[in-house]
Amino acid sequence: MKIYNTLTKKKEEFKPISEKQVGMYTCGPTVYHYAHIGNLRSYIMEDVLEKELRYEGYNVKRVMNITDVGHLSSDADTGEDKMLKGAKRENKTVMEIAKFYTDAFFSDCEKLNIKTPDVVEPATNCIDEFIGMISTLLEKGYAYIAGGNVYFDTSKLKEYYTLSSHNEEELMVGVRDDVDEDKNKRNKTDFVLWFTKSKFDNQELKWDSPWGVGYPGWHIECSCISSKHLGEYLDLHCGGIDNIFPHHTNEIAQSEAYFGHKWCNYWFHVHHLNDKSGKMSKSKGDFLTVSLLEQKGYDPIVYRMFCLQSHYRKPLEFSYEVLDSVAAGYKKLRNRIAKLDNSGETDRNLAAEYKQKFIEVVGNDLNTASGITMVYDVLKADTNDATKLFIIKDFDDVLSLNLTDGEVTEDMSASVDSDMEEYIMEMIEKRARAKKDRDFATADSIRDELAAKGIVLKDTREGTTYEIK
Ligand code: AMP
Ligand code: ZN
Repeated sequence: MKIYNTLTKKKEEFKPISEKQVGMYTCGPTVYHYAHIGNLRSYIMEDVLEKELRYEGYNVKRVMNITDVGHLSSDADTGEDKMLKGAKRENKTVMEIAKFYTDAFFSDCEKLNIKTPDVVEPATNCIDEFIGMISTLLEKGYAYIAGGNVYFDTSKLKEYYTLSSHNEEELMVGVRDDVDEDKNKRNKTDFVLWFTKSKFDNQELKWDSPWGVGYPGWHIECSCISSKHLGEYLDLHCGGIDNIFPHHTNEIAQSEAYFGHKWCNYWFHVHHLNDKSGKMSKSKGDFLTVSLLEQKGYDPIVYRMFCLQSHYRKPLEFSYEVLDSVAAGYKKLRNRIAKLDNSGETDRNLAAEYKQKFIEVVGNDLNTASGITMVYDVLKADTNDATKLFIIKDFDDVLSLNLTDGEVTEDMSASVDSDMEEYIMEMIEKRARAKKDRDFATADSIRDELAAKGIVLKDTREGTTYEIK
């Protein structure tokens, strides 16, 4: 398995610390609202990563937190508490809000075939662990008390920006909403470990601590919850790219100061889903949810396929136009698979060859789009239907697109369509290869050949689509 590691900014061979188990940690949702389909892009791609690791034979233990306290509307410790904002909006208690949106999150995950992590831990379960870690950070001189709050002192580290480049402007891209200055901080990048005095007198969730009644900062929860379940050495940590700074940068600072050694080896970050006005975010108000897609008649798995057709390290722009074309392709693909006849003997040798090829493709920094192309290759392979079905089912352990659950529709046009589609897809691939080799004459002649048949190609950021005139 090769994976792009944000820490080294290189694609690297994945080598877990122990042969026995891969420790994988995922930043979970802040449960003050529904997850939008942008958040879910991150969880879909992290799900594929986990399943690919399992497919390659690794025994994965995956842990996820649920942020139900401490996440303020700016990631840099300012603004309103998100949970409180949700409770006010709906006239409910914070705990009611947390329960409702945690359930909604897992219901969305189920619809998208996202496996629930082995351990899911809400932050409010771990207050004693947070207090323990903060106390040690104070004892070791990495933290200080100011204005009643406890802060992490980033100047005490030799290298604070291990994960991100030291470029303020670039870093602030990840920081959401307003950024007011906190006069208690000794250094601009210091962050809160424990709030006692804050501007939220109405903070509903408060706990006793050696520093007074208060509540934890957001970053400490992931350092604590991950080490509680996965120990002091972590293989793999995931999140969306907005988590790189400050959240993951601060997690590294706390954990490495606490343990006194390097903590996590691989950092996996999923690029954002954008809409026309930019990054999709919960604070913007008008965001897309799985329920909304369902109301519009889409099978949520079509959205999963939409995500898998693009590389996780590229921004992805959502459009109904592209989603419609994915939905049509998905329907045809499942129809073709449903028509396969499962009688006959499976060619296990061929299946093993395909499995190896799939690992080379998808295990190469999660090239999921080529993984889907391999399904089409299997359909064209020179073997019997039972073998094809066996291989596709096997690939679907990773892709999780319900590829073999479709029903046969005896629509003759479907088979004509699928031949046509196969031809177009082949031509699109050939053209992409030609363009990559800078053979623009061939690329143009393929475009012209298709245009002569009334098939017009359109190059979008998500790849090439087509329209039949
Ligand atoms: P939150 O619920 O805001 O804590 O975010 C949950 C996860 O979604 C985090 O890993 C974020 O990095 C990720 N995320 C937030 N917005 C987007 C987006 N527009 N596209 C992809 N991932 C996102
Ligand atoms: Zn986190």
